[in-house]
Amino acid sequence: MKRKVLVIGSGAAGLAAATRLLELAPDRLEVKLVHQGHHFGGKASSTRTSSGRFIEHGWHMVVGFYDRLRALVRRAGVNDGDVFLSMGGQSHPFESWSQRIHTLDGSGDSVDFAGRFLSYDGLPIADRGNYGWFMGQAMLAARGTQDLTRHDDLCFDTFAIEHGMRPHLTKYSVFRFLREAYFNFPEQISAYHVLQSMRLMSTPARAESFVCKGPWSEVVWEPIARYFLALGGTVEPFTLATDWVWDGTRITGVRVARPDSAGHGEGTRPWEPAVRGLPGTERTLSGFDFVVSTIPHAVFVKMNRSEERMWRSPYFKRLLNLRSGATVSMTLTTREPVLEFPGPIFGFPAPLGIAVNMKPYWEEYRNDPKAGSVLDFVGQEAGFEGWSDSEIASATLDNFSRAYGVGDLRAAGVGEVELHRNRSDSERLLLCEPGVNQFRPGPRTPFDNLFLAGDWVRNEVDLICMEGAVASGHNAAAEVVSRL
Ligand SMILES: Cc1cc2nc3c(=O)[nH]c(=O)nc-3n(C[C@H](O)[C@H](O)[C@H](O)COP(=O)(O)OP(=O)(O)OC[C@H]3O[C@@H](n4cnc5c(N)ncnc54)[C@H](O)[C@@H]3O)c2cc1C
Repeated sequence: MKRKVLVIGSGAAGLAAATRLLELAPDRLEVKLVHQGHHFGGKASSTRTSSGRFIEHGWHMVVGFYDRLRALVRRAGVNDGDVFLSMGGQSHPFESWSQRIHTLDGSGDSVDFAGRFLSYDGLPIADRGNYGWFMGQAMLAARGTQDLTRHDDLCFDTFAIEHGMRPHLTKYSVFRFLREAYFNFPEQISAYHVLQSMRLMSTPARAESFVCKGPWSEVVWEPIARYFLALGGTVEPFTLATDWVWDGTRITGVRVARPDSAGHGEGTRPWEPAVRGLPGTERTLSGFDFVVSTIPHAVFVKMNRSEERMWRSPYFKRLLNLRSGATVSMTLTTREPVLEFPGPIFGFPAPLGIAVNMKPYWEEYRNDPKAGSVLDFVGQEAGFEGWSDSEIASATLDNFSRAYGVGDLRAAGVGEVELHRNRSDSERLLLCEPGVNQFRPGPRTPFDNLFLAGDWVRNEVDLICMEGAVASGHNAAAEVVSRL
């Protein structure tokens, strides 16, 4: 008889776990995927506005080392080479001292790594040698055999100064980039996370950045969901897990709610029709042998919160030390072309410090004469919670327009503006702050049949990104299969 597995959450980790379970043990497992939202992909999902345009939960980049994500996409029948488009190996730090957007060229072999900072004109000449030398040392440490996790309790600024970088260099965008990219801005970032990124990106090919040619949910995650169905899996749609039901060391049920009004889906997708007419239902899912939870940390720690026995136990108590941040994202079109840089621009004032012109990459916009540029902005909300959406949008336009050579974005004719504050628990992103790893769990839990996956769960990638989420999903699936 087949053993039953419930996978909760349909982001990168949930889709990776659910498909991997059926790839590994198709004859021995029955897998059900609990899908909360309208769109597959969790934090990396996309949606469409009433005007039919698509927007992302936040701008998402694929890095050259994302082998697991690419392989999953290929197994789902999608040609990853068609879907992920290279940004040409360049990124563009905005440095406040020069008020200019500079270019950092990521091409060339790894011997050139330190050398590229000697020609980076975003640093004054007097600082380039010291910075290039430090980055060369950091790359050597990252690529060496030492266990990088020992650098987790240090922030990267301290690591850099301890390793000979002049302290004032911490103020440059080219140094602060990873803090911003991991949304640890304005918080400090663990030196381990930066060094681990450098280790994984240690060749130009593995550091190259790519973007998706269209809406992530439609282009990437739905084909994977269809592949899961083709493998024999089933989807429990529009279902929110609220509490664990447990007995001794086993999860025996999951309390779920269907908070959404039914009938919103077109009913054309294979996972939608079953839910019509069932809004507001609360019930318990039971009868499974294993559960893989890919619920994000900020949601996970709210489940069964009134149960002191659970939350006073050392395992669960440690999870309360983890923190996550709310992100903000904004997409706008301009009539005239602006920000014609191939790669991401970063280092602008908070909250929306990163900007990318997606016009050349997004198929739907590439040949649209009404959109001269399509700007995707992203950043962390911290410090701006009291600002209205229009204040944030307006400040962002001012910040960018002040940069030398950009010109007035408003004069370029701002069209549609979509701003999202990703504040809810399921949207928040784990902060990889110093010391975080001692509190991050692995796939196993005190319950014999509950396994964890998700970007916040430790894995061989270990970074808070889609590739880490996929790796953790695979690990949780392997844990289940090893117990059959
Ligand atoms: C603005 C932004 C930009 C980012 N940029 C990048 C990038 O450029 N590159 C990159 O690699 N990564 C990026 N990330 C990180 C990346 O999105 C995540 O690391 C990754 O998507 C996490 O996948 P996951 O499956 O672990 O979690 P999630 O994507 O959060 O998936 C969890 C799933 O569980 C569901 N869920 C939540 N609560 C419940 C519940 N109670 N019951 C049932 N289901 C539930 C959610 O709806 C979701 O489907 C970015 C993140 C953000 C927020």
